[in-house]
Amino acid sequence: MITILEGKERNLFKHHPWVFSGAMDASTVPEAAGVEKVVSHDGRFIAWGWYDKDSHIPLRLLSWKEDDMPDSSWWERSVRESVLRRKSFFSDMSSSTNVFRIIHGEADLLPGLVADVYGRIVRMIVSARVAWDMRETVVRAIEGLLHPQMIILNTDSAFCAIEKLHEVVEYYQGGVRFTPAEKLPEMRIREDGLYYGLVPGTGQKSGFYCDQRENRKRLEQYVKDAVVFDGCCYTGGFTLHALRGGCRKVDAFDSSADAIHRLLSNVHLNVDLGILPSSSLEKVTANKADIFETLRSIPHNAYDVMILDPPKLAQTIKSLESAKKAYKDLNRLAMEKIRSGGILMTCSCSGSLKREDFRTVLAWSAKDAGVEVQILETLGQGMDHPVRISFPESEYLKAYILRVIK
Ligand code: SAH
Repeated sequence: MITILEGKERNLFKHHPWVFSGAMDASTVPEAAGVEKVVSHDGRFIAWGWYDKDSHIPLRLLSWKEDDMPDSSWWERSVRESVLRRKSFFSDMSSSTNVFRIIHGEADLLPGLVADVYGRIVRMIVSARVAWDMRETVVRAIEGLLHPQMIILNTDSAFCAIEKLHEVVEYYQGGVRFTPAEKLPEMRIREDGLYYGLVPGTGQKSGFYCDQRENRKRLEQYVKDAVVFDGCCYTGGFTLHALRGGCRKVDAFDSSADAIHRLLSNVHLNVDLGILPSSSLEKVTANKADIFETLRSIPHNAYDVMILDPPKLAQTIKSLESAKKAYKDLNRLAMEKIRSGGILMTCSCSGSLKREDFRTVLAWSAKDAGVEVQILETLGQGMDHPVRISFPESEYLKAYILRVIK
């Protein structure tokens, strides 16, 4: 049983799931990793948690019901409930979209664990020791529910050092671990009726950024006859929507050569399938380039619509101040360069940058660029990436559609 120090329990009673060492009475902390009852200094039950001294978050709270101890059947039930919350995505799967998230970490009450469906394949990413310890239970639960062709599990390289985990990829078929004899073949996924090629287990994130699904749809409403700039385009999520929305031209930029190649092959794929008109091939340019240099070098007034979807610039709270400056510069440059009346879709996926702070950064960008800015739409992450109200950190993707007036 772990006792929380007086004054440190308030957020935990409000279901915040993370406890750092400074909040625990050290004399009550166990040596071995495992499930622990967590109580306040005056002995009131707070929650059941998982303690592991080797984790950078040593105590992670799981269940706030005293009669519901998180054993392996708790994990199986939590996985099942999380998957069933995505029922509407499964019923839509045969038509427009077959890539979506079924477990979104703490926001689905499953710390350090995300899982995405890619057609008949499930990708799991583990970023905490507790999820690593419980992975076979989770695999069994997903297998029993979905019978996927394969489950691919990786540890998240960004967390391996701080969680003392190895960088590992595991493959499961029928719930049993195996080693694929050869490289996995390329597959096609579908989002909102558009197709993307990818090789399971490769690429950034779990292979595709499905958190931007709704925002791509929104963008499509603004691009008719527009000249579009897609900054940090990855494999073309926004570019394909711009082409389908009838843009005049789209210039896409990314620092990754692989992403650029993939974007071009995705345009070809959708043209070949008759989803995009063949004129799309002449409308798109894909460029390997740094976004900051690109924004400095493009001419003024060349673009009607600009998209800024940079990688997580604030990796940690510590880098927040320098990241804010980078977000400010990026957005200032875009506001300076865009045509008057142009549409700027701007995003931040840094969990440590709060929405209000991102908005303040954008206000500074507007001031420094000497422009007026209107917010047309306030957007976030798709509903398969829910935000848990007791865990503000789960609201990581913020996006705005802005009009820039000069
Ligand atoms: N908009 C994309 C997702 C973007 S993810 C989509 O809809 O799928 C962020 C992208 O930024 C990644 O593809 C990464 O390769 C790219 N990137 C990272 N640093 C960059 C830089 N300095 N300049 C340009 N692109 C960068």
